[in-house]
Amino acid sequence: MFEHIEFYPGDPILSLVEKFNADPRAHKVNLSIGIYFDENGKLPVLSSVRKAEIDRAKQAHPRGYLPMEGLATYRTGVQNLLFGADHPALKENRIATIQTLGGSGALKIGADFLKKWFPQSKAYVSDPTWDNHRSIFEGAGFEVGTYPYYDAEKIDVKFEEMLNFFKSLAPQSILILHPCCHNPTGVDLSHEQWDIVLQVIKDKQLIPFMDIAYQGFGDNLKQDTYAIQKAIDLGLSLFISNSFSKNLSFYGERVGGLSVVCPNSEEAALVFGQLKAGVRRVYSSPPAHGGFITAQVLNTPELFAEWENEVATMRDRIKNMRQKLHQALTAKQPNRNFDYFIKQRGMFSYTGLNPAQVQRLQDEFAIYLVGSGRMCVAGLNESNIDYVADAFAQVM
Ligand code: PMP
Repeated sequence: MFEHIEFYPGDPILSLVEKFNADPRAHKVNLSIGIYFDENGKLPVLSSVRKAEIDRAKQAHPRGYLPMEGLATYRTGVQNLLFGADHPALKENRIATIQTLGGSGALKIGADFLKKWFPQSKAYVSDPTWDNHRSIFEGAGFEVGTYPYYDAEKIDVKFEEMLNFFKSLAPQSILILHPCCHNPTGVDLSHEQWDIVLQVIKDKQLIPFMDIAYQGFGDNLKQDTYAIQKAIDLGLSLFISNSFSKNLSFYGERVGGLSVVCPNSEEAALVFGQLKAGVRRVYSSPPAHGGFITAQVLNTPELFAEWENEVATMRDRIKNMRQKLHQALTAKQPNRNFDYFIKQRGMFSYTGLNPAQVQRLQDEFAIYLVGSGRMCVAGLNESNIDYVADAFAQVM
C-alpha cells in the first residue's frame, strides 16, 4: 500500500546534528544547528524564564485549551515588543496578532492565509535563505522563486540586483524578508538600504512578510525591529512572524507570533478572524505553558528588564566569539581579510568555506558546519575557539 511513498532523506541540518551526537570524538564541536549555547556549551535556561515558571508553579493550573488566537496577554506582549506599546497602529487597532507554534507556525498560518486570499501571488525568498521558508510556502501551495541577495565574492548584499528584481515583480508578489540577523549568511541590509527597499516595495505594491527569529541578537530588541517600524511608517500593510525560540531559549515550548499590520481596524478584524480559522483547521489552538511563561516575562517590568539583559549577554558573547575568531585567523593568515566575521550579525556566519572544506573539518577535526559553509557562531566558546580557528586555517 505504501510502496509509492517517496523516501524522505531527512532535514539536512537535523541529520547533521544526529551525526554529531553519534560522533565518539571527545573534542567534537557543533557549529551546525541554529541554537544558542552558552560559554559552557550548554543550552541556557534563562533566569527570567525560571522565575516566571517558579511563580506559576506555586498554584495548580487546570490545563484547558487556549483560544485559537492564543493568550490575550501573550498577544499584547508580542505587539508591545515588536511595535512599541505606544505605537499609533496599535492605538488604531489595526494590527491583528495571534500566538503561534513558534516562528514556523506563524509562517505556516501566514502562508495559508496568503494562498487563500491572494491565490494569484507568487512568493519569493532570498537567495539563500532558511530552507524551511521555501518548504512552508510551497507546502501552502505557492510557487516559490528567489530574489538576489548574497554576493559571495563581496560577502555582502547584492543590493542593486535585489532592487532591480523587486522593481520587475508583479503587484502583490510576496517577499519573505529577514528584518535582522539573516539566516544563513549573517549579512544584513543597512538602515539606509531598508529605507530604499521598502519604498520600492510600496511603489510596486508588493507584500512584505518579515520573519524575525533572532530579535535582540543584532543590535538590541528594539533596534532590530527597524525594518518593521519603517514599513509601518511608510504605510505598508505587512506580515510579521516572530519567534521566542532563540531569544528566550524556549525552543521546545513552541512560542511565536503572527502579526498582520492592516490599513484600518475593520480590515484587521477580518484578517484576525481568518487567522483564527486558519489555526482551527491546522492545529486548533497553541500550547499554553510556553504562552503563560512568555507573557509573564514580557509583561512584568522586572522580568522584562532581566530578560533584556540576558539577551544582551547572549548577543555580546556571540560578538566576542566573532572578534576572537577574526583575531586568531588574522594572526595565522595575515594576508587574508577576515573582516566579514565581525561585520556579519546574529547567530550565523557564512564562512566562505566550500563543501569540500566543510567535509574535511568534519572528517579530520570533528567540527560540524552546514555544507553551505554556514557556521552557528553560538557554538563557539573559550574552550574550543583556538581549536576551531586552527582547523579553519588549516583547511582554508
Ligand atoms: N525563521 C528563521 C529565519 C529561522 O531561522 C527559524 C529557526 N531556525 C525560524 C523562522 C523558526 O523558528 P521556530 O523554531 O520558532 O519555529
